[in-house]
Amino acid sequence: MERPDYYNDKKFCENCDGYVNYLMGLDTSWCVSCGERVKLYSPVDWDNFREHLETRKTRGGRPRKNPGKESA
Ligand SMILES: [Zn+2]
Repeated sequence: MERPDYYNDKKFCENCDGYVNYLMGLDTSWCVSCGERVKLYSPVDWDNFREHLETRKTRGGRPRKNPGKESA
């Protein structure tokens, strides 16, 4: 899977509609430009990423679906 270093340094901000520099928190990262939460990938890239995961699912790794659940 091709994933240039670009993605290691930036995350996707829906508000800015692009990959941005971010501030990293424990479970969440924030856009340095607008303060919105950022995602690891854009929706399009995320689809690609999930497709990629589908092919590896048989290995038994559990995806962490609700990372914020233990916050209380
Ligand atoms: Zn932003």
